[in-house]
Amino acid sequence: EPDGDFYGQLDDLTPEQQEVRLAVRGFMQEHVAPIMNAYWSRDEFPRHLIPELRKLNLPRRIWNEDGTRRPGATMTEGMITLEACRVDVSTAVFFGVHAGLAFASIALGGSAEQKAEWLPKMLDLEAIGAFGLTEPEGGSQVSQGMRTTCRQDGDGWVLSGEKYWIGNSPFSDFTVVWARDEDTQEVRGFIVRAGTPGYHVRKIEGKVALRIVENGHITLTECRVPDSDRLQETRGWRTTAEVLRLTRAGVAWQGVGCAFGAYELALGYAQRREQFGKPIGNFQLIQNHLVHMLGNVTSMLSLVLRLSRMADAGQMRDEHASLAKVVTAARCRETVALARETFGGNGILLDNGVIKHFADTEAIYSYEGTNEINTLVVGRAITGFSAFV
Ligand code: FAD
Repeated sequence: EPDGDFYGQLDDLTPEQQEVRLAVRGFMQEHVAPIMNAYWSRDEFPRHLIPELRKLNLPRRIWNEDGTRRPGATMTEGMITLEACRVDVSTAVFFGVHAGLAFASIALGGSAEQKAEWLPKMLDLEAIGAFGLTEPEGGSQVSQGMRTTCRQDGDGWVLSGEKYWIGNSPFSDFTVVWARDEDTQEVRGFIVRAGTPGYHVRKIEGKVALRIVENGHITLTECRVPDSDRLQETRGWRTTAEVLRLTRAGVAWQGVGCAFGAYELALGYAQRREQFGKPIGNFQLIQNHLVHMLGNVTSMLSLVLRLSRMADAGQMRDEHASLAKVVTAARCRETVALARETFGGNGILLDNGVIKHFADTEAIYSYEGTNEINTLVVGRAITGFSAFV
């Protein structure tokens, strides 16, 4: 089996991280690979795999029940993401939204009671979460231009507005909704449970990337939420930003995993596919593609391994995560394009796998902060000048 880890960089992981990595690899090969194209074609997430995924106990490898992170959590998350994305980025996104964004929102912003109610169920994938921040009017400006509002009303809150692109929300048990307080202008987080009157989710149709992830357009129409479901410990936008900081390293890992998968598919194909009487891997131009891809995945891997160690040591700042996201997304885009090219016309057939990586990269490139926005985060850090507005 081709292996993109040319320098054996993954050999330095702890035995537990290795075990997690192999467990996810086995799960992806046994359960996801055989059905993913069918679910891709139907724009549907294979929910029946959730009990199977539960058996791997993955969230408990990252988080403790009280919402604190386990030692080496970012690296462990990286292993899960790498192995999932190698086969199917959507599976990693389902997991990342639930065990990353939604879980971290409650872990960082919830009271002891809220954590006790939700975190154990989330760790066991008994309750699935979603994270509602982006709005139809835009994601980049959401910290300043958030239009969804909340208004205190007796012992509860009334939420109004819309959220767009919200992963898992068409079937999640709840969505963490971020809204601006009409009185104080402060950003607050709410646990909005599925079935709450005034909370409506429409599945977004027609995506050509990450088709297996179900994204929702949420409408909140005078939606009443009890005060006990307001995240009690948030500190305005700072908490939202902390959640995003915690998960951005995971998105950088998505780019690495996706590029790994595409490179390995291309190498296998170059060794099998014959033209002019020999495998196309004999040709210098094809070798050039392969070596370029290998250089990309090797350097991307070094970058995210270092970033994850910094994150786990408490040394990672926003600009560190942003730089990794910018670089890995761009290198991934280049890698999947070369991989697709190596397959010739067969590269656009879903059954050959590589086109799914190609399409999914476009989403990686633009979510959790677009390439431009993450670039500006780094630009601000190195120059001291903010170019956002
Ligand atoms: P816009 O903000 O409209 O940006 C459009 C373009 O303008 C981009 O190129 C951007 O970089 C550029 N731009 C904007 N401002 C500037 C500036 N100041 N300087 C230079 N360039 C600028 N959101 C959630 O809350 N929860 C989810 O679960 C979720 N899942 C997602 C899943 C998918 C598949 C996708 C595609 C998106 C998801 N998102 C989610 C939303 C995602 O985070 C946003 O798409 C992203 O933040 C970008 O926002 P936008 O798409 O509205 O683009």
